[in-house]
Amino acid sequence: MIQQADVAIIGGGIVGLCLARNLAIAGQDVLLLDEGRHGGANANAGSLHVQMQSRFLRMYPDLVPNLEASLPLYPAAARRWGTLAEELGADVELRQSGGLMVCEDATSYDFLARKCAREEELGLRVEMLDRAAVRRIAPYLGDAVVGAELCHDEGKLNPLLANQALSRDLRARGVPHRLKTWVERIERDGAALRLTLSDGGVVRAGRVVLAAGAGTGRLAAQIGGHVPTVAEPLHMNITESAAPLVKHLVQHAERMITLKQLASGQVVIGGGWPARFAGPDQAPTVRMDSLVQNLTLAQHIVPSVRELRLLRTWAGVNTTTDGQCVLGPLAAEPRVHIAVPGDAGYTLGPLVADMAAAILLGRDPGFPVARFTPDRFSRGASG
Ligand SMILES: Cc1cc2nc3c(=O)[nH]c(=O)nc-3n(C[C@H](O)[C@H](O)[C@H](O)COP(=O)(O)OP(=O)(O)OC[C@H]3O[C@@H](n4cnc5c(N)ncnc54)[C@H](O)[C@@H]3O)c2cc1C
Repeated sequence: MIQQADVAIIGGGIVGLCLARNLAIAGQDVLLLDEGRHGGANANAGSLHVQMQSRFLRMYPDLVPNLEASLPLYPAAARRWGTLAEELGADVELRQSGGLMVCEDATSYDFLARKCAREEELGLRVEMLDRAAVRRIAPYLGDAVVGAELCHDEGKLNPLLANQALSRDLRARGVPHRLKTWVERIERDGAALRLTLSDGGVVRAGRVVLAAGAGTGRLAAQIGGHVPTVAEPLHMNITESAAPLVKHLVQHAERMITLKQLASGQVVIGGGWPARFAGPDQAPTVRMDSLVQNLTLAQHIVPSVRELRLLRTWAGVNTTTDGQCVLGPLAAEPRVHIAVPGDAGYTLGPLVADMAAAILLGRDPGFPVARFTPDRFSRGASG
């Protein structure tokens, strides 16, 4: 049987879920198709990131203009999570209790201080804290920490609750959401686009949005577009519950660690440690070396974490491009739109979905989006 829709969205991660909701609210006939197992939205840590990553600025100075240009999106995205939770009427354990980017030596403190000054200039609510000041607000940090940049807009939420609340909302709106459905092919079919599904099904849609995370590039290529999405398998850990201990989102200026405590009392530990990629149609698996190094670093930064037992460790696929969002129609086929968030894509997800919906509906996306066009990759430019 051929299923029809005005707009078919491929990918039911945070962007696809929010976009389907936006389009349904706008009265569009929308269909959401999702294979489901390999997305970042089901595996992520729920950190609301706003400040720039000190480490990336040092490692990739060429990307600084891109990162700075995208910076205004992040505080807006964190605020958007607040309004979305209200709209959903759901407690997603959203806490904007601030984020600390900690450092362990004078050189990285100075770098962080320059970053902080620049971010303040660009409108972020940030401040530098020396050793005594950081101890006052975060007594749980280890002695090695000599200072931190505090970003007031950062925070955390529980992605499992947020994803569930969005799925419930879509069901209540009657949006068809086909799970465990892999889209094999996208091709032109007269006035429509034709999607061939792995279960033998076919969808004909007037327009298609590729919100397929790391799978976006493969689908875009089938229709003549070039979107270089790269799958980045990452590792996460969660401990048993503990009494309130870590108030902030904690990150490190130079090393791979993010750490936060959920409302349940569990401490979520990650930071970009690699997992093992098992192929595009397989779930990634955990690497023991990542597990050991990640937890060793966590205990170094927050020593009382060593009292807690590790409950679970898992791997998920993140998506990278050039650090910026990819948004808008493909020049090769303008009926196919792309909706891929930039770095910290869960933070950006709801806002990116708002912008993607506005572009599709011919409305004002609220931010300058020209630099996010997918065509920048075909032109070979990233600016
Ligand atoms: C371990 C980990 C921790 C992270 N932590 C954070 C964090 O704390 N904060 C933060 O902001 N970001 C975090 N991220 C990044 C964030 O999760 C992603 O950027 C975000 O989920 C991207 O959302 P998305 O909707 O664009 O894509 P995804 O969530 O990747 O969803 C894409 C969906 O498309 C589906 N799909 C792909 N191809 C096809 C196809 N051909 N047919 C059907 N379906 C298809 C996939 O199965 C998937 O369900 C983390 C990522 C990982 C992996």
